[in-house]
Amino acid sequence: MIVVMRRPVVPENLERVTSTVRARGLDAHVSEGHEVVIIGIIGDVRQVSRSALEHLPGVERVVRVLQPFKLASRGYRPEGSEVTIGTDPARPAVIGGATVAVIAGPCSVEGDEMLFAAAEGVSKGGAVALRGGAFKPRTSPYSFQGLGEQGLELLAEARRRTGLPVVTEVPSPGSVELVASHADVLQIGARNMQNYALLQEVGHASIPVLLKRSMSASIEEWLMAAEYIMAAGNHRVILCERGIRTFETMTRNTLDLSAVAVAKQHSHLPVVVDPSHGTGYASYVRPMALAAVAAGADGLLIEVHPDPPTALCDGGQSLTIDVFTSLMDEVRSVAAAVGRGL
Ligand code: PEP
Ligand code: MN
Repeated sequence: MIVVMRRPVVPENLERVTSTVRARGLDAHVSEGHEVVIIGIIGDVRQVSRSALEHLPGVERVVRVLQPFKLASRGYRPEGSEVTIGTDPARPAVIGGATVAVIAGPCSVEGDEMLFAAAEGVSKGGAVALRGGAFKPRTSPYSFQGLGEQGLELLAEARRRTGLPVVTEVPSPGSVELVASHADVLQIGARNMQNYALLQEVGHASIPVLLKRSMSASIEEWLMAAEYIMAAGNHRVILCERGIRTFETMTRNTLDLSAVAVAKQHSHLPVVVDPSHGTGYASYVRPMALAAVAAGADGLLIEVHPDPPTALCDGGQSLTIDVFTSLMDEVRSVAAAVGRGL
């Protein structure tokens, strides 16, 4: 069960709720986010009636949630969440709601020229945010690991030039502060989805988190990872399906589009789809991007490189700027067909 407190929260009201809960032998977990303060009730919730809590001063609502993920559950916020990214009021980027949002850019930041060309290209094409890895935790320690802090500075410069908010991966708990000081959205990579220390740390950050599904995680495990971030206080979580590992070898991963429907039914969080890592081949990105929008995805995360054959990372699945631009026209048509804008 979850108790949502009205803002601004009066400490005595909070104390009254927690002591009422504890007096019945249950535990109360207070989570103070930037937007809401909630109290998670842990234990046999039959010991406390919903109406007994609903009538306490300062309580906005009480939600009974049966799933193991509480804050991430649809029951917690039936209307669905919208996550606003970036700080430029002239260029609001909203993930979730009536429009489909496209985040695009290179796999990794390789240098100024390529990054600025990619940023300009995706901006003109209609992307609402720029992606690009400065830290690249790769499968091989001998592969390009990213430019690190210099890459973050280039991303910030690309934002200045285009106005696009920046989405970039944060590889470890110790780097959250540094990455958050340059980025607009903290990306949790698939390999880190169950790095609970990292999830808790981004849960304390004041900017949104894009949480990639691990290649071997069930949807429930993915939503539980979101729950970690939210329980630590950050409710601005965007889920990202990026393909899972199966027996199939003709694609890099198997893009699980059913996860969009399932996650959206069970959770209020916006869901975006990454057809680039989901398939591993540029030629499959277009059909799967369109299918994702048809399936109800709130957005797409697409790798775009000004010259894919020279890319230091994931060139084979990266679109050229021209292909990206024409894909955006098709995305617009499919979005309109399912009642959404772009
Ligand atoms: C990426 O987005 O470039 C990336 C490394 O993705 P994933 O964590 O899904 O493999
Ligand atoms: Mn990549």
